[in-house]
Amino acid sequence: MTSTWLPVPADHPFGVHNLPYGVFTTTEDPIPRIGVAIGEHILDVGGVAQATGSDHTALLDAATLNPLMAAGRPVWTTVRAEITAWLTDEQYRREVEENLVPRQDATMRLPFEPADYVDFYSSEYHATNLGKIFRPDSEPLTPNWKHLPIGYHGRSGTLVVSGTGIVRPSGQRKAPADAAPSFGPSLRLDIEAEVGFVVGTPTELGTPAELADFRSHVFGVCLVNDWSARDIQAWEYVPLGPFLGKSFATSVSPWIVPLDALGHAWVSPPVRDVEPLPYLDDRLTERAGLDLDMEVVLNGHTVSRPPFKTMYWTAAQQLAHMTVNGASLRTGDFYASGTVSGPEVEQRGAFIELTWNGQNPVKLPDGSTRAFLEDGDEVVISATAPGPNGTRVGFGEVAGRILPART
Ligand code: CA
Repeated sequence: MTSTWLPVPADHPFGVHNLPYGVFTTTEDPIPRIGVAIGEHILDVGGVAQATGSDHTALLDAATLNPLMAAGRPVWTTVRAEITAWLTDEQYRREVEENLVPRQDATMRLPFEPADYVDFYSSEYHATNLGKIFRPDSEPLTPNWKHLPIGYHGRSGTLVVSGTGIVRPSGQRKAPADAAPSFGPSLRLDIEAEVGFVVGTPTELGTPAELADFRSHVFGVCLVNDWSARDIQAWEYVPLGPFLGKSFATSVSPWIVPLDALGHAWVSPPVRDVEPLPYLDDRLTERAGLDLDMEVVLNGHTVSRPPFKTMYWTAAQQLAHMTVNGASLRTGDFYASGTVSGPEVEQRGAFIELTWNGQNPVKLPDGSTRAFLEDGDEVVISATAPGPNGTRVGFGEVAGRILPART
């Protein structure tokens, strides 16, 4: 394994085996710029590119990752090798040391300019739990569920970076027993712990991306909290799906982990017990499941550890499905996995499942309980994946605190 001359432990989740990309500012320099996390520091890669006369200066000395994302897989691989060389070869020591910023001194920004945003629903455990909660008299999974990865188009303009305050949404709510809907702040504000995939290279309108094209198009992976107002959602979602119960904010983690850092994290997805149609049939392709261990923390207390490797539909299948009709991809397109829930209660990635629609509130160490989120609550979702030689690849975290409603 490559090692760095920097004082970074080999097993640091932001070690030289990871090198996730983000965009940051500092008080001294408020211009957004691209950084790569290394240990407790951020390397200003635009600064190093300039100082070393890199061929990739135009891609790295930028305010978003979009130019690099648009450049394509061969360039991503070359740039990663170049940054690895800066951090491992003593000849670049001066240029690197002049461009290191302590992570605690940086403010992280949304790392890419989002284009379209799609959210899926690909955990069999999550979909089964919600089916049991909402449709107790019918089959938990809808008839289409094992034939296609169900998804909907979300609101890309309200993707926000970790740390952004989440204003409690207001809207129409109507409980089944209510005679008429009422308007007011959501009383059932929830999270959805998810994994997000950032698209780099576009496709031509009319031409689907196939399963095997996943690595050509997807630049990297991050964490997502798909905040969900369950009362607004329950009243509005029939028949066209989620709308205002989701679109008020979706938080993403600031670090985009490159696919090239995840070589040890690929696993086989669960056995498909319904034969997929050919464009989704991954049984003879490379292992496309990802082994991320996620953790959900509410006000400093761990409430769940969702296992991403249990997801039924993979990110490659989701990409193939969302383009199979010829819909084109654009640089900055973003899609999320759907809530990640495992088979156990303490592996569920949303409070509606953890508390079974509020019936069994979560108990916190301070003696309080939560069915859904209260103003002031902070939720932090983090994850790691297997790396080389027993290391872990860190994804950092996506955090958000609930602010009072404004209407
Ligand atoms: Ca979701």
